Amino acid sequence: MSESLHIVCPQCDAVNRIPADRLGEGPKCGRCHRPLFSGHPIALAGASFHKHIGRNDIPVVVDFWAPWCGPCKMMAPAFEQAARRLEPRVRLAKVNTDDEQTLGAQFGIRSIPTMALFKGGREVARQAGAMGGADILRWIQAHL
Ligand SMILES: [Zn+2]
Repeated sequence: MSESLHIVCPQCDAVNRIPADRLGEGPKCGRCHRPLFSGHPIALAGASFHKHIGRNDIPVVVDFWAPWCGPCKMMAPAFEQAARRLEPRVRLAKVNTDDEQTLGAQFGIRSIPTMALFKGGREVARQAGAMGGADILRWIQAHL
């Protein structure tokens, strides 16, 4: 029997149990039947944020950003690309700190963009400032 992992559905927030060796086979959500991984960062807000950070057995990398932030916009395509490269081993997510000021305050986000990597509900690494694609991949992989 292979180990199974809890994966939170990006569409309906249901917690799925997926055998670790089938993670790369395009697993679908048992509740809403949509794909658990789409190759794109997912937008998190409020309650869904805490569920994804707390219940996923894979690391979650969050990009804290805002629509008016130039460097955030510059970094967005590289972050997209990182999602394509790293899923399903890692979940990439974005939090709009204009809409989610409570989350921004709770995590003490002082400048954007800021990336934070969470494992098992705990923040294990943080990086402030825009980075290019290669640096984003290197930073995430260094903390897995
Ligand atoms: Zn679902």
